[in-house]
Amino acid sequence: MTAKLIDGKALASSIRKGVREAIEDRSRHGFRAPGLAVVLVGDDPASEIYVSHKRRDCKEVGITSFAHDLPASITQAELHALIDRLNADPEVDGILVQLPLPQHIDSVPVLERIRPDKDVDGFHPYNVGRLAQRIPKLRPCTPFGVIRLLESIGETFKGRHAVVVGASNIVGRPMALELLLAGATVTICHRFTHDLEEHVSRADILVVGVGKPGLVKGEWIKPGSTVVDVGINRQADGTLVGDIEFEKACERAAWITPVPGGVGPMTRAMLLLNTLNAAREHAERE
Ligand code: NAD
Repeated sequence: MTAKLIDGKALASSIRKGVREAIEDRSRHGFRAPGLAVVLVGDDPASEIYVSHKRRDCKEVGITSFAHDLPASITQAELHALIDRLNADPEVDGILVQLPLPQHIDSVPVLERIRPDKDVDGFHPYNVGRLAQRIPKLRPCTPFGVIRLLESIGETFKGRHAVVVGASNIVGRPMALELLLAGATVTICHRFTHDLEEHVSRADILVVGVGKPGLVKGEWIKPGSTVVDVGINRQADGTLVGDIEFEKACERAAWITPVPGGVGPMTRAMLLLNTLNAAREHAERE
């Protein structure tokens, strides 16, 4: 079997188009453009690239992005003061703090300080808690994007065994909650899991987000399964690969996401959708 590709690039493009049309329609009805504050601390090259992509996406769909590029020397208190200002700013519907933050900054109180209705990354405990209780509001972008990818290929979830490899706050944990919400039976694997192969080989839906190239071997994949690779690993030659042995996995899976061009573009698209949804909620309150 040769797996069919799940085209995240194409789906993300159609989601951006939908967001742009919705914003244009809102504008015709007198609503201001949604506003996204993008906070970048320090000069980590990878973060700078991610942030520049996000700003470009905003421009494409008509979201106003407010750049807050801060020196790595900023203090915790100064960063909190900025979040407070953005929380109070009526032009700002969403606040994104690019991670990782410099070592001397504790990211937990920073993320918890963001008003939950402006938490367009979906990392605030309020939003993760809403997802856990089956009443999601702003949903963590990467897992939300994966669900949209799976829906696009007609995945039905119910009665299916989903295995999530990786249990971080931004990928694995909310991913498991999304799959549970969708009706799948969910297993979560992490660094302390014994016999990863055994778990992976039983997955109808496999989602891997660890950050270790080649961690999941192609021969572990259950024949006919759906495979989503969240991992992004830059190789010495500059190319990107995921966490799963792609070519070998293609011989067994029915569906698979490529890296790049799978989950990455969807994460960015869901940020735009969350920002639009936050703006809608704010407009209703005005
Ligand atoms: P992280 O380091 O915070 O978490 C890694 C997780 O993997 C941990 O839960 C850990 O327990 C688990 N793990 C480590 N070794 C393992 C092993 N041998 N077996 C099973 N589990 C193991 O990383 P993260 O922030 O969750 O990111 C994971 C990967 O996803 C990275 O490659 C990152 O670049 C990528 N990522 C991609 C997107 C996207 O949009 N495509 C978004 C976020 C993260």
